[in-house]
Amino acid sequence: MDFTDASNHFREPAVSLTPPYDSNIPLTVLVSSRAVIFDEENNLVVSPATLTLSPQTGTIISILPTILPASSFPANTQYIDHTPHLLLPGLVDAHVHLNEPGRTEWEGFNTGTRAAASGGVTTVIDMPLNAIPPTTTLIGLKEKIKAAEGKCWVDVGFYGGIIPGNSQELLPLVQAGVRGFKGFLIESGVDEFPAVSASDVALAMTTLASTPTTLMFHAEMIPPITASVGDDVQVSLPPLSPSGPLTSYSTFLSSRPPAFETYAIEEILSLSHLAPALHLHIVHLSAIEAIPILRAAKDRGVNITAETCFHYLALAAEEVAEGDTRHKCCPPIRSSSNRDGLWDELAKPDSVLQTIVSDHSPCTPELKLLPESLSHGCGAHAEVKGVNGEIISSKEAEEKEKGDFFASWGGISSVGLGLPILWTAANARSSSISILDVVRLCAVNTSAQVGLSHKKGALRPGMDADVCVFDDSAEWVVGREEMLFRNKVSPYQGRTMKGSVRETWVRGTKVFERGGSNLGFVGKGGVPAGRLLLERRKI
Ligand SMILES: [Zn+2]
Repeated sequence: MDFTDASNHFREPAVSLTPPYDSNIPLTVLVSSRAVIFDEENNLVVSPATLTLSPQTGTIISILPTILPASSFPANTQYIDHTPHLLLPGLVDAHVHLNEPGRTEWEGFNTGTRAAASGGVTTVIDMPLNAIPPTTTLIGLKEKIKAAEGKCWVDVGFYGGIIPGNSQELLPLVQAGVRGFKGFLIESGVDEFPAVSASDVALAMTTLASTPTTLMFHAEMIPPITASVGDDVQVSLPPLSPSGPLTSYSTFLSSRPPAFETYAIEEILSLSHLAPALHLHIVHLSAIEAIPILRAAKDRGVNITAETCFHYLALAAEEVAEGDTRHKCCPPIRSSSNRDGLWDELAKPDSVLQTIVSDHSPCTPELKLLPESLSHGCGAHAEVKGVNGEIISSKEAEEKEKGDFFASWGGISSVGLGLPILWTAANARSSSISILDVVRLCAVNTSAQVGLSHKKGALRPGMDADVCVFDDSAEWVVGREEMLFRNKVSPYQGRTMKGSVRETWVRGTKVFERGGSNLGFVGKGGVPAGRLLLERRKI
């Protein structure tokens, strides 16, 4: 799958010219002087627009590239003029860990999807690990579905997982509607989701070879250390342990060099001939050294894409303070020059980076081992549990070194903050990334990545009426109140953001309004109205 040309995925007319004025169903009409829609050549453009939505079917009835007055519509129409704010398609965050059931103290469907809704994200796709059970079996998926029902404020889809020995579960999971699969080539951090070997990957590829799905990899792998280090054997040993204080970010960064990513990607590519039609995807690419490898693979026809994350584009290793484990994730946030390289790649028309996602991967504050100076107001729990649920005594907890980047859980919390993070970073760089690119990278392409481009990720007639109303000039500071995910631990806390989501609409219903009643969760009598996206993938 190649997302570069959005027209590959859509054949409907770009603009319908005949709103159904004669309809008896009350309509909702959203207008603005600026909306991101498609022109007649099927290119994304910023244009004045009139969006007519059906709250009844939850879909977009029509889009006109002009502003019609309220008087053009029946008297019972709900007509809202959002000028000068942008009307965008609701974002599709294709990489989120919601951790429920099993580690609901880390995150949950209720809190995670509220955070998503508050940031204009109308669809999230939940990763197969960190909940217990993991989504590596049909039974695990059923547990997920049971846990999610009635708790989601936006629409939610699920990935399945690839682990050693579960190949017979993959096709049943496809049937049950998973949006893709993810496997790890390195330790995942949780016992129930072990890494796969080359033979496991080969088996997954052959099993899924002719299935419309996406096979994704956490692409880090420890390159083999040679038995001999040549003449250096007289003076040194292979570098098996970290060198430097464990509370220094530089020690952590050098423990996971770019070679981990490039080696893993080479490993995946070496097997790709087993399933030439299968869409392969690298999640959370960090190291720019991987980009030429992926470009060469694409050029020789390998069906592979990659995503990067908001944090690799907004944060940099040089800026991480001693012990500030809020920045720990794997692969790591790298140097500012690496960050520049990711932005340069994104700006290319044939970028191998086709999507940007949050990789929201929270945990309890205790597992972050934050130093005292950084942990105020995080909402620590009375009972401390380890990653695998074991109870840790207060004495044991005391003994863990605060700020230890190696012992701290790796994961960054940001679901719902992605749009302002990206917009702030793009503006600060005077980058060539426009709001059209943001929509392409965070909605159109993420939706295609998970086989939902027929209903999600774009403002088009017939598609789900998922809308984000974005004030692209507002400035605000990320405080506890703006972090709606469960644990208020995020490297973005205290940062000034440019761009604020004013409203979020899911399938024709306003679910979030900044400053509105019920903490802004105004939809459907204040109850969650998100749906689970379990239709089987066709593309
Ligand atoms: Zn992840």
